[in-house]
Amino acid sequence: GVQTCALPIYERLDSLIVKDELTGLYNRRHFNSEIENEIKFASRNELPLSISMFDIDYFKKLNDVYGHQAGDYVLRELGNVVSGHVRSSDIAFRYGGEEFAILYRDTERTKAVGSMSKLSRRIANTKLIFENKNLGKITISTGVVEYVKGYDSEDLIKKADVLMYDSKKQGRSRVSW
Ligand code: GH3
Ligand code: MG
Ligand code: MG
Repeated sequence: GVQTCALPIYERLDSLIVKDELTGLYNRRHFNSEIENEIKFASRNELPLSISMFDIDYFKKLNDVYGHQAGDYVLRELGNVVSGHVRSSDIAFRYGGEEFAILYRDTERTKAVGSMSKLSRRIANTKLIFENKNLGKITISTGVVEYVKGYDSEDLIKKADVLMYDSKKQGRSRVSW
C-alpha cells in the first residue's frame, strides 16, 4: 500500500544517534568512530586522508548582540552551506558548539585546503537575515592536516586544532596547514 510515515522508527533513531539536531551534520560521537574508520581505510588502501577543523570567528559577539536564537539560526545556515559544499565521499561534523570538522577521504592536503578556502569564501558571502534583522556575515578559521602513516586519531585532531588556533592568532578568516 501507500506509505504515509516518513521513516520507520528505527531509521529515525539511527539518525538521532549519529546526527546533530541543530545543523543536521554528523555529531561528535560519530566523528570519533568515523575518524578511526577513515584512518584504517587510508592506511589499508594506501590512500591519502585529510581532515579540516574550523571554528566560527567572534561567535560570542553575535550571540550577545542578536541573541541565542539568532546564533542558532546562524549555526543551521552554516550547516546548510557545509552540507551543500562537500562531496559525497567527504563527511562533515559539528564537533562542538561552533566548531566543525570534515574528513576528506582519498584527498591530499592541497585539495582539502582548496576545498576549505572555497567553503570559507562561501560562508563569508552568505547573507544572514533572521526575523528581518540583517546579522551581517560570519567568517571561519581553519586548520587542515593530512594523515601520515603512524599518526593516530589524537595526533590528527591535535594538529588540526593547533593549526586552527594559528589561523585565529594570525587574524582569523584564514586556512592554515
Ligand atoms: P573566536 O573568534 O576566538 O572563536 O571567538 P568566539 O567568540 O567565536 O569564541 P568563544 O569560544 O569565546 O565563544 C563561542 C560562543 O559560541 C559562545 C557560545 O555561547 C556560542 N555557542 C556555542 N554553542 C552554541 C549553540 O548551540 N547556539 C548558540 N546560539 N551559541 C552557541
Ligand atoms: Mg569561535
Ligand atoms: Mg570555539
